[in-house]
Amino acid sequence: MKKTISLLALLLIIGISCNQEKKKEQTLEKAPETTQKEVKKEHKDCKDVHWGYGDNEEGPENWKNLCDGFSACGGKAQSPIDIRTDIAVATDELKPIEFHYGKSGVDIINNGHTVQFNVSGENTAKIKNKNYKLLQFHYHTLSEHTVDGKHYPMEVHLVQKNNDKDYAVIGVFFKEGKENALLKKYLDKFPKKKGTYKADESFDLNQLLPADKSYYHYKGSLTTPPCSEIVSWYVMKEPIEASKEQIEKFSEILHNNYRPVQPLNGRKIYKFEEK
Ligand SMILES: [Zn+2]
Repeated sequence: MKKTISLLALLLIIGISCNQEKKKEQTLEKAPETTQKEVKKEHKDCKDVHWGYGDNEEGPENWKNLCDGFSACGGKAQSPIDIRTDIAVATDELKPIEFHYGKSGVDIINNGHTVQFNVSGENTAKIKNKNYKLLQFHYHTLSEHTVDGKHYPMEVHLVQKNNDKDYAVIGVFFKEGKENALLKKYLDKFPKKKGTYKADESFDLNQLLPADKSYYHYKGSLTTPPCSEIVSWYVMKEPIEASKEQIEKFSEILHNNYRPVQPLNGRKIYKFEEK
């Protein structure tokens, strides 16, 4: 009799916990929907919308639902992507990028999402006979693009503009190695929280580029909201270097500010190899 009672009790407990599990699953599944609607209603114009990189309702999976203006984040030509070298095709249409970079002064801004360097002066890259003016560059840890499924520890994005609907962003990976001269100059001055540091001294922007200018190219988007699909991506094949300590310091400031890779959806990846 005792045995039967304890068996019954056991079954009852299992039954209850199973039910609780089920309930948990249901609330988990339903929660995003409710949140999305609430957020959408509150912030139609996207102005004060908070977004981030966490695994929560402000995170990358839900950017498209945060407000109407972020709906492109659910589009079909999003960035970053995994650059699969086995499907990257060489084409005669791609030519070397002509970099006309010089010395520039910078404002270093921690905007809460990244550390961004706003540059001054006429620094341009000529791509397919169009001039793109360098506006700013900023960093992501880990890298946003992956190559054959692998992240680099860091990636810098050089944001260049031709017009409002035509941006070229040049991505450069960092690998662990020699100390990086540019980071050495500025790393200790980075605003650790939201803020701006105005640098008096100028530096040569060419330091941001690898010696070998081979690159991968595809059509994509901004990797942060509003995720507009207006970007021609040029991701340099050869990484530049920074020391282990520099990369660690950087990721302490930026945390994991990378968007996960997005589906290719039939887009082509091209490559240009410097000979
Ligand atoms: Zn970026």
